[in-house]
Amino acid sequence: MKRAQRGMPSRLVVGNWKMNGGLASNAALLDRLVAGATALPRDTTLAVCVPFPYLAQARDRLKATPIAWGAQDASERAEGAFTGDVSCGMVAEFGCRYVIVGHSERRQVHGETDALVAAKARAVLDAGMTPIVCVGETLAEREAALTDTVVGRQVDEVIEALGADVSRIVVAYEPVWAIGTGRTATPEQAQAVHALLRGRLASAGAGQVALLYGGSVKAANAAALFEMADVDGGLVGGASLNAEEFLAIGRA
Ligand code: PEP
Repeated sequence: MKRAQRGMPSRLVVGNWKMNGGLASNAALLDRLVAGATALPRDTTLAVCVPFPYLAQARDRLKATPIAWGAQDASERAEGAFTGDVSCGMVAEFGCRYVIVGHSERRQVHGETDALVAAKARAVLDAGMTPIVCVGETLAEREAALTDTVVGRQVDEVIEALGADVSRIVVAYEPVWAIGTGRTATPEQAQAVHALLRGRLASAGAGQVALLYGGSVKAANAAALFEMADVDGGLVGGASLNAEEFLAIGRA
């Protein structure tokens, strides 16, 4: 079923800056995005998820614009002796609309489990923001025909933990083998996994949840991916650091 038939009015394109940026380069990038955002289709929402130290800068430069901003992670805990961690309440104070949780780099580099990712999604919702929950299989898992098992397990944990509130999340399918590798899932590969995710979420009463694809999305491949019935937008890493490329993805 097409997005419009599902009553989904808007397409969402989110930039994940990862651990990149600096005050001067961010200012230039954000200003170019703001200038270019006027030419975006009306049904497209653009957002950038920036490193914690730049949340105030993103807020100050984007608050009077249609571009939303957010963080790339946050703690599942509210406060306390957790040196180096940042709570969802802190992030929310900077006006964030989105927080990415469960990015494969968090799962792989920081050992985050499905249960922890679900707890983070809950904490983000409780702080009044929208979690963008990332799921995706490794190359070894795909080659072992385990994609559906892995992605199904990852999304089921979140569905179970959030109950009816699962309808308030965004899910990003990011095959690990496609992240930062220049190797993109074909539109058909993306659609197959998105259809599985749609089915699981629909069974939980959350068939309207926006499903983003992430993994080497660029201006050159975005339109074909976004044309797929269950692809509602993109989560964009490397290409979101280039304003013209990111805006072109937004127009795709
Ligand atoms: C990401 O980090 O979420 C991502 C999709 O990265 P890239 O677009 O660079 O593959």
